[in-house]
Amino acid sequence: DKILVTGANGYIAMWATRLFLERGYSVRGTVRSEDKAKDVKDYFNSIGLGDKLETFIVDDIVKEGAFDEAVKGVDGIAHMASPFHGNVKDPQEFFRPAIQGTVGILKSANKNGKQVKRVVVTSSTASVMSPPDKPTLFSALDWNTKDPKLVEELGSNSHPMTIYRASKSLAEKGAWDYYEQHKNEVTWDLSVINPPFVSSFSHRESFYTKLNGPPIHKIASSSSLNTSLQAWYNHVIDGTKSTKEALTDSTSWVDVRDTALAHVLALEKAEAGGERIITTEVSTLNVILGPFIWQEWAMALILNKVAEANSISPSPFPSRKLPIGFPEILEGERVYKISYDKKKEERILGIKFHTKLESTKDTLEDFAKRGW
Ligand code: NDP
Repeated sequence: DKILVTGANGYIAMWATRLFLERGYSVRGTVRSEDKAKDVKDYFNSIGLGDKLETFIVDDIVKEGAFDEAVKGVDGIAHMASPFHGNVKDPQEFFRPAIQGTVGILKSANKNGKQVKRVVVTSSTASVMSPPDKPTLFSALDWNTKDPKLVEELGSNSHPMTIYRASKSLAEKGAWDYYEQHKNEVTWDLSVINPPFVSSFSHRESFYTKLNGPPIHKIASSSSLNTSLQAWYNHVIDGTKSTKEALTDSTSWVDVRDTALAHVLALEKAEAGGERIITTEVSTLNVILGPFIWQEWAMALILNKVAEANSISPSPFPSRKLPIGFPEILEGERVYKISYDKKKEERILGIKFHTKLESTKDTLEDFAKRGW
């Protein structure tokens, strides 16, 4: 089968492409420029998986019919391209590519995707919730309606992450609406993956998104990482801007490889059709899983203790000097503010998620190889 992956050069999409190729699929990956196509091809050639990969330039996903050619002859679609950074002013800068890109690919699949059996859209927990004031358990039944309203009121005065969350929420809503209106005329069904999105609880300037794990997309330097990994790097390795307030914040996370796998499984498993699926751990009992307080990542001592507790010897972190943050944060009762109901993920996808320890170890090893 051939799978279309949009935004194939991105952090998650590179891993999704890799998993598809490793499982024997052919992949057509869309990117915005020839340079990016070359980066993607070079990487997959370098690991011997380039044969079944073709790249395809879609320079502007906002254009009507942008994906009309790209969808021809593919059996499944993973739509992952969407803007995610902190420098947005005009909400339309995110809304147009997020919403029109998502609804647009469904329109193209309807028009030209004669073989398409399923479309998987990468949404986010940003469309499930807006960061709550008190600890809350969310499920796939929840929708973030708050942030779209806020952006409507505040326009370009909105916080960039409010704009981002609104863009994801409106894009996902647009996808479900389009699917509902056209499901009798299309050959495919829709499935949505919602990886955790996280933000600080007040709309202050810092924001945190947790999607870790080693990157395989092209990165020029440790200061030009994708948004979520940049936050991790800043707190766990750099630490110079890690205030006590920032390290007290808590949220949920997922490893990039598990997120990529969720997309593959959502295309393979019949039961994923018509479902939005949150992909994260939920256990609050074990510091190596699921929700976390930033300080838990940011302290070498804790990570080493986790290693000890898991009989991993020698600890993966002994030689690396990591910032210790504010150890006292973890002295009192730990409050994990955002957690998710994982029953649906367990029932349909059944992913064995990487633990915080594994993800940290792999990411640190990868960064060390790059000299960061
Ligand atoms: P990256 O920034 O690494 O990848 C984003 C991809 O989208 C790139 O291929 C990028 O292309 C493309 N893209 C961005 N803006 C546009 C635009 N205006 N028009 C066309 N393409 C665009 O981020 P991630 O891999 O983290 O994100 C991938 C998806 O996962 C997104 O949909 C994001 O919302 C979602 N997500 C991410 C989470 C996270 O924590 N990382 C959590 C939950 C969801 P280019 O390189 O050309 O800019």
